[in-house]
Amino acid sequence: MSAASVKKTPANAAKPVKKRVCKKAEKAETNAVDAAKPVKKRVCKKAEKAETNAVDAAKPAKKRACKKTTTEKKTAAATPKSASPSTLSPTERRRLADRVFATLAERYPNPSCALDHRSPFQLLVATILSAQCTDKRVNAVTPALFERFPTAQAFADAPVEAIEELIKSCGFYRAKAANISQASRAIVERFNGEVPATLEELVRLPGVGRKTANVVLGNAFGIASGFVVDTHVLRLSRKIGLSDEETPEKVERDLNELVPQNDWVDGSHRLIYLGREYCIARRPQCDACPLGAFCLKRP
Ligand code: SF4
Repeated sequence: MSAASVKKTPANAAKPVKKRVCKKAEKAETNAVDAAKPVKKRVCKKAEKAETNAVDAAKPAKKRACKKTTTEKKTAAATPKSASPSTLSPTERRRLADRVFATLAERYPNPSCALDHRSPFQLLVATILSAQCTDKRVNAVTPALFERFPTAQAFADAPVEAIEELIKSCGFYRAKAANISQASRAIVERFNGEVPATLEELVRLPGVGRKTANVVLGNAFGIASGFVVDTHVLRLSRKIGLSDEETPEKVERDLNELVPQNDWVDGSHRLIYLGREYCIARRPQCDACPLGAFCLKRP
């Protein structure tokens, strides 16, 4: 019997038709059901996600705000009142400066330059030597140095090694000897052996910056060209609350604005005295310090 003759029988012809209809119908139903389900699910997920996002978006905002507030509170509590002198108004800072320098004038009525010298040139050399060195050490070295080389011309003519030999104990002696030798030659060649009396001319000499120039002008010529900002003055100005700058040049600018010019020279000496006697870098004597009542950094 062939396959064609089987399809022609009524019973056999009905069966496949029913099956095909059922599969399509089932598929259509299944598709309709499946199509309906995901739509519902997708809608639900989106809606849920949107809701979740909306909730989450609101929550962190609240948390962040709380965290910031807490941190700010902690920082404010941990920060000493002195941490930022910039919080002082110009008037408050000026009042503070008036109080500081009036108190220091009482404590140190007759300040003077701690470096021994007999001429502007000797003071220039001594100030170059005092970088990263104590005044006491410089004063121990300079008598023999100035006896051997009494003038700028003598320093200019000397071999740099001879200068090095006499200043070894001051530290950085090679650089200091080179600066002294070159500055001496410049003074001989450009200024006929005399130290110039202006800031502009002084700072053009080798090894001479604003601090050295202000020391020489203030103490050898009686010219108040600016506050002397050495390591003590830099540290104390920031501690007391007179400046929150970090470079000597900017601290000098602040002090020059706060202090009357006729007090620049003595004011520098007085701050240096205070730094040596009370406000020692690693162990400040705040309980005994005359500025203890109003220094912003007092613990
Ligand atoms: S009170 Fe303390 S921190 Fe302030 S200047 Fe005096 S020693 Fe220094």
